[in-house]
Amino acid sequence: MTYDKRMLKENIERITAEINGRATLLAATKTVPPKIINFAADCGIRVIGENRVNELLDKYDRIDRERIDIHFIGHLQTNKVKYIIDKVSLIHSLDSIKLAEEIDRRAYRADKLMDVLIEVNLANEVTKSGIPFEEIDIFVDKIRHFDNIRLCGLMAIPPKCENSQENSLFFNKISKKFIDIFHKKVDNSNIGILSIGMSDDYMAAVESGSTLVRIGSAIFGNRN
Ligand SMILES: *Cc1c(COP(=O)(O)O)cnc(C)c1O
Repeated sequence: MTYDKRMLKENIERITAEINGRATLLAATKTVPPKIINFAADCGIRVIGENRVNELLDKYDRIDRERIDIHFIGHLQTNKVKYIIDKVSLIHSLDSIKLAEEIDRRAYRADKLMDVLIEVNLANEVTKSGIPFEEIDIFVDKIRHFDNIRLCGLMAIPPKCENSQENSLFFNKISKKFIDIFHKKVDNSNIGILSIGMSDDYMAAVESGSTLVRIGSAIFGNRN
């Protein structure tokens, strides 16, 4: 894959202008090499999201971490938490108690309070991970007991939708729940991040209250 730097810069500037300070722009950088990630930082990107532990470890030393904050946005296996606990500032994909237990244990050892988002499965799709929408409250109640985890909000990848109205239904549903949890003042929490919206739907997400959008292809072009 070759990257057209001028195009990349234009994409970042356009999307930044569209979002207009209403949400954080996270660049989803799976398959993107460190050199290009660092160029994205030249264009103003300050947060990236990586999906795979091995890929993150491979790129980690070459990413300009003075300027770039790294989030983990992919499915996280329990046995890999130990490799990333000291390398990422936010895990978007907390989707089980077993994973919460391991994050808590590793964060304690690393002397760190680990910020997390609960990944929500909005339409109970079997192909996706995430806590079923109906079970969010129970799950929140369980994870507030972990001393080394701080709940910062919710993340979701909505089902493929036919149009932006359909998309907005899902976004509004999770946005309401986000506000609910925010008002509950849960222990060990600092609720402020609603991570919904990707390349095809980020403006709809922002309209629905997303505070962070995860954008890959609209910045870097289609992945092979
Ligand atoms: C790849 C990815 C994105 C970005 O997807 P695009 O459609 O390329 O913008 C966002 N979130 C997650 C979890 C991803 O894996």
